[in-house]
Amino acid sequence: MSRRFLWVLASVPWSDQTCFTRGTWHGKPLFSTKTADRSVLATERQLTAMGKRPGGQDPAAFLYFRCRKAGKLVFANLYLIEKAKPKQPMTPARWASHRKMMAARRTCRECRETGWAELPKAHRTCEACLYSAGLDPHSYLHDYLVGEPTLTPEEHAALAA
Ligand SMILES: [Zn+2]
Repeated sequence: MSRRFLWVLASVPWSDQTCFTRGTWHGKPLFSTKTADRSVLATERQLTAMGKRPGGQDPAAFLYFRCRKAGKLVFANLYLIEKAKPKQPMTPARWASHRKMMAARRTCRECRETGWAELPKAHRTCEACLYSAGLDPHSYLHDYLVGEPTLTPEEHAALAA
């Protein structure tokens, strides 16, 4: 059984009047479906539909609803509409900088090669560079390297020289 949120008549920071909430969640007022004031609070998607964005503000409240598909309670951030900022339209220059950022995620920091797949955030290094730098004993790449090495790293270096 999931938790039940009981009705609470509480004062809220954005209004001098009390309103019906479902108590608090993470220290902020909690609302159930169709109980939050649509003229004051909006989810991020509702702000987007209005051509606005949260603009760095913390959520003022939370909304919960039951998602039938996921079979669980889902919590959403509610933002104050009056604190929201207008959404910036994408200009060619903004698209260019966005593409540059996405390419940087696919670029190896060692060999500077840009591939198709995003590299791991921790090191942004391609598998070839990981291998030449020396694999740690728990690396998943060992699963793809079958058999026993026939040469030591020193003998390999001597071959290349
Ligand atoms: Zn590389």
